[in-house]
Order: sequence, then structure tokens, then C-alpha cells
Amino acid sequence: HIGSQIVDRKVDSVCPFCGVGCLITYNVKDEKIVSVEGRDGPANHSRLCVKGRFGFDYAHHPQRLTVPLIRKAGVPKAYGDTPRPGDWHETFREATWDEALALAAGKLRSLRDTHGKKSLAGFGSAKGSNEEAYLFQKLVRTGFGSNNVDHCTRLCHASSVAALLEGVGSGAVSNQVNDVEHAEVILIIGSNPTANHPVAATWMKNAAKRGAKIVLADPRITDLGKHAWRTLQFKADTDVAMLNALIHAVIDEGLVDEEFIRNRASNYEALRDNVKGYSPEAMAPICGIPAGTLREVARAFATAKGAMILWGMGISQHVHGTDNARCLIALVTVTGQIGKPGSGLHPLRGQNNVQGASDAGLIPMMFPNYQRVDNASAHAWFEDFWHTKLDEKPGYTVVEIMHKALAPDSDPHKIRGMYIMGENPAMSDPDLNHARHALASLEHLVVQDIFMTETAWLADVVLPASAWPEKTGTVSNTDRMVQLGKRALDPPGQAKADLWIIQEIAHRMGLQWNYEGVESGVAAVYDEMRLAMHAAIKGITWERLQRESSVTYPCLAEDDPGQPTVFIENFPTATGRVKLVPADIIPADERPDAEYPFVLITGRQLEHWHTGSMTRRATVLDALEPMATASMCQADLGKLGLEAGDVVTIASRRGEVAIHLRRDDGTPQGAVFVPFAYYEAAANLMTNAALDPFGKIPEFKYCAVCIQRGGMP
Ligand code: SF4
Repeated sequence: HIGSQIVDRKVDSVCPFCGVGCLITYNVKDEKIVSVEGRDGPANHSRLCVKGRFGFDYAHHPQRLTVPLIRKAGVPKAYGDTPRPGDWHETFREATWDEALALAAGKLRSLRDTHGKKSLAGFGSAKGSNEEAYLFQKLVRTGFGSNNVDHCTRLCHASSVAALLEGVGSGAVSNQVNDVEHAEVILIIGSNPTANHPVAATWMKNAAKRGAKIVLADPRITDLGKHAWRTLQFKADTDVAMLNALIHAVIDEGLVDEEFIRNRASNYEALRDNVKGYSPEAMAPICGIPAGTLREVARAFATAKGAMILWGMGISQHVHGTDNARCLIALVTVTGQIGKPGSGLHPLRGQNNVQGASDAGLIPMMFPNYQRVDNASAHAWFEDFWHTKLDEKPGYTVVEIMHKALAPDSDPHKIRGMYIMGENPAMSDPDLNHARHALASLEHLVVQDIFMTETAWLADVVLPASAWPEKTGTVSNTDRMVQLGKRALDPPGQAKADLWIIQEIAHRMGLQWNYEGVESGVAAVYDEMRLAMHAAIKGITWERLQRESSVTYPCLAEDDPGQPTVFIENFPTATGRVKLVPADIIPADERPDAEYPFVLITGRQLEHWHTGSMTRRATVLDALEPMATASMCQADLGKLGLEAGDVVTIASRRGEVAIHLRRDDGTPQGAVFVPFAYYEAAANLMTNAALDPFGKIPEFKYCAVCIQRGGMP
């Protein structure tokens, strides 16, 4: 019963939004989801946030794509205007699946055969299942013939993963979120968990209630600040200065865990020498945090029985994102706060399956399970496993692919055709005018999605896909839990399961795949992926997932409960030790100046998810946050003679938006925060595509803008 309603069936699944991975039950009546309940999953214990509980009716939205579409002859791909949802009949015509698939795959095949394997690229999705991610990257690697495959991890934690693989040998978290229960100090940096990982934030608040000291470090102080022992509102872009000052203080005050360094770390001397010049006293004017506070926090972190660091995009989305994460690794290492319960590193994963999609190989430099494509033995293993020749060179990343789509015809690596499944780069990439120009310039673009997204507007062929409640599959959350979602509904109209569509494209590209079984052979795909992942998920069989719903990896055998805390005895590096990598201050690519005096910070908000294609079509969520707003503090509003509710135009050197203002005194002076979920005020029109050199992640968290009264929102 839901209230007085009797439902037809209850189907267990996983929330499709953030990386917390709350387990849910869909209540279905008359083939519609009528409500969602939280299940007693290991990550949520029946808790849900507003997105998980109320953000479900996007699946029934009248704008769902229900039939394959082909761009009408002669209709140009207009990228100058922000595309809007609505009637597509002037741009596209309906087609049969046979016709659409033949055109989609046929043109990709002819581009490959005419211009070479590097002329194609694919973006998979962290919103799809592990099985879809695995099959998509296999299609690109074995069918397109290169490693030009990526997804939104590049826009998210790529720099964190680069630092973690280099430092501790694994890109995943060392401890699960609810391990904060065992921590005395919890450093949360560059993250707004109450908005972006709301149920995870409840475990942090519970920890604070029982006495744990939360240190919230962020240029923008958000809701969790109310529960913090100390808030470090450091100046944007000064992460390395502040973190090196903390490490300096630990060393300076004799709080280094010498035994841990001796037995489990390497390169400590280089780190120690490097931070000599970063005393809290010297860094205080740079980062804006008093030296005494820095020393107090360093002491608390080093002397706690357990101390954890959890971080988000505020750390990773900088040109120095990898350096930021290197400093976090160094801080837990010098204090010995890793490798035990209540102590460790946790990069909070954004999308529901960004962990799993990366694990499954949806990245250009790694096969499944982070086997480098240019490692001879990994390369040979996958050639044997997939029975085909493979490219031994890493492919291009998300932003590089956009650049390559605009390369001159003479460039042998010019990208000419793309297959995009469930991603929306025309909203999520930096410098959108450039990204949209790149997408529009492709000779052939195939988009597979559930709505006519901003990216789909630029496609040649649009393939109507399944929403999450319409399919069975696994996703892996931020805690390394592989979790099973079951199909609650059939897709609408002629829309099809993504797994089916990928296989149909593959067959038409000349691949002989044969995944038998129900729901497009999802269990067979999972079984193959499990082999490709080697030991990591060996003990997590498809049958076990039917029984248990959620199993943590590493999981080496069917009776292994999984390892919630890792690195207890050693690190999966070549030496078994953490490799410390010193970092120095590198300024943002674009600093404020007289012409563009404000810093733009972009991010998410509680009610809307990423580019808004799902949540803005969910009735309750749209009613709660129906329009874009830019947040500024009262001091800046007053200085500019503005008030909350006024319309301003915010402009960078690359683009501008007109938007209503909102007062938020947590936003620092000299900065403006704009969420990136709104097509009508697309924040990424303004962002900078400058990349971190290691993770190749763009600098979404910092660019220069000017603000003027007026505009047409
Ligand atoms: Fe979904 Fe994340 Fe909210 Fe949980 S916290 S209900 S996974 S959006």
C-alpha cells in the first residue's frame, strides 16, 4: 500500500542519481512508478534524499523519445543558440529501427574504412549500467578500432584518479562513507555533500553529533558548515598552499607517524624538503586561513585515533587537480591516517555509476580494471580475450576529442564521427560554444538517449533508449559496492534497451557478438566483464547479486563478504608502498583582472542533477527549483548595487548568460556560483577548457567573469 493506493508491483533497484548508491524500491501501478521507497541498503539504510524519493516521473515525461529519428536532409546543425526542449519535427523525421541503425552504423563504418580507425570516437555514460559501459568500450576498442572512448569521469574525478593510481595504486576509495562513524576528525574539502551526496552527508552529521570533529574546507561554505568544528574558507585556487601548510605543520610539530613512513611510504624526504617553504605563517596570507587555525587543524588530524578525508570536484576540477589530490594523499600518509577503519581517503564519486564505468574500461588509457592499454602484457591479454587486434596507444579524452573534431582535414587523427550514449557534452563540456561547434562539425553523430538533449539536437541519428527503471543491470557506487537494479517497466513506444542498441550497432560494424539470455543477454555480458576485471569482482557472481543486491569489492571469492577498508597491509603499487609526490603552487589558467574581476565557480545543487535532462523533467524537483539562479554574497551584491532577484548578465571571454541573482553568504566575496543544470543559462558557456596535464580534467571551478545588471533570462 502507498497511502490508500494498492500498487501492482514493487521492484528493487538503485537510485539513478548520485554516487552514494541508495537502494530503492519502485512502486508501480498501471505501468507507472507512483512512488519510491528507500531500502535497507548498506549505503543508505532506508534513507533517501529529495532526488531519490521524488525524482522518478521523468521516466513518464511526454518528451521521452519513443521512435528512432534521422535528421532531415538540408537542416543545418545550429549550435549558436542554446537548444531548447520541444518539438523536433522540423529537424528530424521518424525512421524504423532498421533504417536508423543501418544509417548510424553504416556511416561510422564508412568513415572508419575511409579515414582510418582514429577518425571515430565514443562517449559512454556513467548513468548507464556496468554492462553497458563494458560493452560500449568493447565496441569502440574492437569495432571502431581505437581507444578513443571516454565519459564524464574526465569532467569529474580524473585528476583524483591520476593521483591515486600514482600514489596508492588504486583509483577507488580506501574507506566507505559510513566509516566516518569510526573517525575522530573528518576533513571534507572541495565538496558540498548536503547538496551533492545528501545521504552520505547524513552519516557525517551523525558522526558530528557523537563528537567527531568535522573540518569543512572550501572557498564556498555550505550547509555542512553548521555541523563543522572548524570551517576553512580558503581563497579559491589556493588548495596546494593550504594543504602543504597542513603537512608542514605536521612535520614541524613532530607529529609525523615515523613508523608508517618507514614501513609503508616512499619519497618522504622529497615531500619534507618541498613543504619546508610552506609554513602556515607563510601560507596564511595566500590561502586566507590564520596560521594558528592551520596548525590547530593539522594537530587534530595527526593526533586523532582515526581521521578521514572526503573530497569532491572542488579539489579535482582545477588545472592543479592532480596536485591537490597528491597533497591529500601526502597528508594521510605523513600522519599514518590510512589503512585502518576510520582513517583514509574518499573521493566522493558524483554520478551513480562513474566508479563502475571507469572500472569497466570506459576511459581512453585503460582497459577494464585499470589495465593500461600501452602495457604489453595487458594489451596481449585483452587481444587474446577479445580475439582481435587492439590499438596500443591511449585514445583521446573528452576535451581532446572536441578539439580533434575541429582539426583541419589534413590531420590524420581528425575525429569525424561519434557515437554518444547517455552523455550530454553540449551542456557538460567546458567552453560550450567550442564544444557545440565541434559536435556540429562532425560528419556523423549518433546520439542514444531518453530525451532530445542539447547534444541530440546536433545529431544525424537519434536512437531512443531506456531510462534506468526500464532495465536490469549493475552499478558501482562511491563505496565500491556493486549493486543490482531490476527492470520495473517496459520502455515507452519503440524505445529499446541500451544493451540491445549497442549490440545492434556492433553487428552492423562487423562484430560477431552473441550474448544470449533475457534482457539482451545482460547476465552474459556481466559474466564476461567479471572475467575481464580479473580478481576485483571475482566473488561477485550474477547469481549472488540476485540474492544480496549489493556486494563490496575487492571480493575474491563467493564467500568473501568484500573488503570495506583496503590498504591494511600494503598498497597495490609496484613497491607495496605509498609514493609521495610533492606539489607546488600552480595558479589557475585564467585569473580575474580589471575587465573580468569575478571568479566563476560552477557546480550542482540539491534538486537538480548534472545537465538537468532528468531532474528538470521530474515534477517535484522542477517545482522546487524551476529556474537558474546565480549565488553571490550580500557584500558583493551591495557593492554592485544589486539585490537578490535582480537579473544580471555574467560574461567570460568565451560566453555569457543572463540569470537571476540569489543571495548566499557562503559564496566568498569576489566570486559567483552558477549551477550547470540549466540550458537557458548554461554555465559552461563561460567555463575554461584549460586542462590538468595529468588527469586531463577541465578547470570548471575557476575562471574570470564580469557581472552587469540586466539581460534577458
Ligand atoms: Fe539518490 Fe544520492 Fe539522494 Fe541517495 S543521496 S537518494 S543515491 S541522489
